[in-house]
Amino acid sequence: MILEKLWRLATLDVGIDLGTANTVVHVRGKGVVIKQPSVVARQMKSKEILAIGDEAKKMLGKNPANIEVVRPLRDGVIADFDAAEAMLKHYIVEVHEYYKGLGMKIPRPRVAIGIPSGVTEVERRAVQEAALSAGARAAFLVEEPMAAAIGAGLQVQKPEGHMVCDIGGGTSEIGVISLGGLVLNRSLRVAGDELTESIMNYVRLKYNMLLGESTAEEVKIAVGSAYPLKREKEGNPLQVVVRGRSLDNGLPKSLKLDSVEIREAMMPVINQILSEIHLIIEETPPDLVSDILEKGLVMAGGGALIRNIDKLISEQTGMPVWVTENPLEAVVRGCAKVLEDDKLLSKVRVVGGLR
Ligand code: ADP
Ligand code: MG
Repeated sequence: MILEKLWRLATLDVGIDLGTANTVVHVRGKGVVIKQPSVVARQMKSKEILAIGDEAKKMLGKNPANIEVVRPLRDGVIADFDAAEAMLKHYIVEVHEYYKGLGMKIPRPRVAIGIPSGVTEVERRAVQEAALSAGARAAFLVEEPMAAAIGAGLQVQKPEGHMVCDIGGGTSEIGVISLGGLVLNRSLRVAGDELTESIMNYVRLKYNMLLGESTAEEVKIAVGSAYPLKREKEGNPLQVVVRGRSLDNGLPKSLKLDSVEIREAMMPVINQILSEIHLIIEETPPDLVSDILEKGLVMAGGGALIRNIDKLISEQTGMPVWVTENPLEAVVRGCAKVLEDDKLLSKVRVVGGLR
């Protein structure tokens, strides 16, 4: 018992959410230590890595022709394996080096990685290999909906149905969980990126103006909603002023946008996610549906922060919907919990294990 406790104290348990938009790293006993965009910049010809994370994201859209800036997991599959591997290794090494730098004799880390559920078996093995070759002693993979559910505090091992919807950057993951496994799941390639694009398209058509991707994302975060806001009824919608380029004369132009029109822009995309949720509910075995109707759907991922998205889904499906605390960190919290709990680690279907 004491030995086991000592062993736990001396191990370095690292949870990593390898998201399409953000990579989040959690260290047991410390909490979230790294939160960076999943972006890699490298030399076009030599493939030499130039920057990872924030620094690489700043180059997006501004890079010269000899530098490529990639989002390795953009659509929920590993579109660029070398870049994904570089990113994963970079963070594992960074955390390990930090502890070594403190002069602590810490064994090589155990790592649990949350990955989109659409990632193929071959890619999973490859991710695991990448983690091991970056110095991990053991590498476990947890599918995102499962990790999000665990991170939200759901009792996933119990013989009862739970439903989770994680809206990320490139994918929305919807899953039904019971007895530690995914009974049903869908990885939909419609999520935050498409919401941002819908705003760009809307502004182009309505105002004949081009918005950059980062500007459109800022608009989404500043005023985006999925259901009418109370303040709109009082004639006081949320507003934001943006700068873009006029297509009439090619010159810079500023424009005021409000929450009513941005919702109009985003609704077609939100409705696609909503119909996937409907489809999953239709396919769920009746006994599990009654559990879910009672306990509700839990939302995670950056998309869960869209104003009133819970209200819309609840109204449209007739079930309770709630957003988990700090939804951007739900997956990494789940990965961390899996490492902390041997029962969970053995029950939850994880790929891989000790080498
Ligand atoms: P992933 O798991 O795919 O990396 P995240 O869960 O980190 O994705 O979510 C990133 C997405 O969430 C991005 O598309 C971002 O624009 C969006 N997002 C972040 N915060 C908000 C917010 N407050 N409102 C709406 N969307 C948001
Ligand atoms: Mg995610």
